Amino acid sequence: MANVTLTINGVQVTVSEGTSILDAARGAGFFIPTLCHDPASPNFGACRICVVEVKGARALVASCSAAATNGMVVETESPAVVEARKTIIELLLANHPADCLTCEKNGDCVLQEYAYRYDVRSSGFEGERHSYPVDDSNPYIIRDMNKCILCGKCVRTCEQVEDRQVINFAYRGFKTKIAPAMDTNLAESDCVSCGRCVAVCPVGALTYKSMAGKGRSYEIEKDQVTCSFCDAGCQFNLNYKAGKVIGVTAKEPGSGRPLCLKGRLGLELLYNEKPVAPMLKKDGAYVEVPWVEALGLEGVLEKLKEREN
Ligand code: SF4
Ligand code: SF4
Ligand code: SF4
Repeated sequence: MANVTLTINGVQVTVSEGTSILDAARGAGFFIPTLCHDPASPNFGACRICVVEVKGARALVASCSAAATNGMVVETESPAVVEARKTIIELLLANHPADCLTCEKNGDCVLQEYAYRYDVRSSGFEGERHSYPVDDSNPYIIRDMNKCILCGKCVRTCEQVEDRQVINFAYRGFKTKIAPAMDTNLAESDCVSCGRCVAVCPVGALTYKSMAGKGRSYEIEKDQVTCSFCDAGCQFNLNYKAGKVIGVTAKEPGSGRPLCLKGRLGLELLYNEKPVAPMLKKDGAYVEVPWVEALGLEGVLEKLKEREN
């Protein structure tokens, strides 16, 4: 494939043809914020916080969905770019709960990070606010759609990577929200609790129930582990606090492989000194089940018993 050379913030950068401006800039070490961009699923180009200034273009350009071209001159932090990003953050904060003090995502939240970086202390916009009930019907995942910024990453990862369509955009305009079919709760949907959507959510809209109240992000160290329950090789994070594993979470996607609940539960049992009892759905409702059942090992136990007899 041919190469193209462009100038980013005064520096000449050479990338292969078809590379986005975003990837070219990040590859050269320049910061560009993104909210809806996910390398594991195709470009969405919705949040527009990744805009940059391209010499000769009539408007700011979304860097995630525009290809770098020969001779292009790009500025990633010009005054116009910074102003546009501030406005996007202000609009998001206009309908966002001021909940950082108690939010599980505090310290690991992309919206919080960008508000800090661009010095947006509050929203200059006033208007109607959502007041959705928090959905904690699923035993593993808490959904707080009041904190959702509609980036769509959860929808795309569920559909394109996990090969399911459990959640999607529902309604229109101000009422737009992410919801399972018929706007029911997660427990009543076909969700398999893989946790992939939680792993990609940039804010505190999707969080792990098992990690709630266990510690701030800066108190927790993560160590990557590859599941060996099957040959898919899914990757998880062991979450350590004060040297002890306090929970297993899906690793931020990168490999593109699907994750499964059985793998995560198995690793909980293996590494976590205090694993929470597993729950599986039976006859439409979640019930606590023995570990052998949660891990699908009943058949193995039967065979071992047969051999003993
Ligand atoms: S999602 Fe982020 S910005 Fe919103 S309350 Fe939680 S930490 Fe704060
Ligand atoms: S946990 Fe998995 S199956 Fe359930 S909504 Fe999220 S990505 Fe889809
Ligand atoms: S729940 Fe999270 S990942 Fe899904 S659209 Fe909202 S902010 Fe994005």
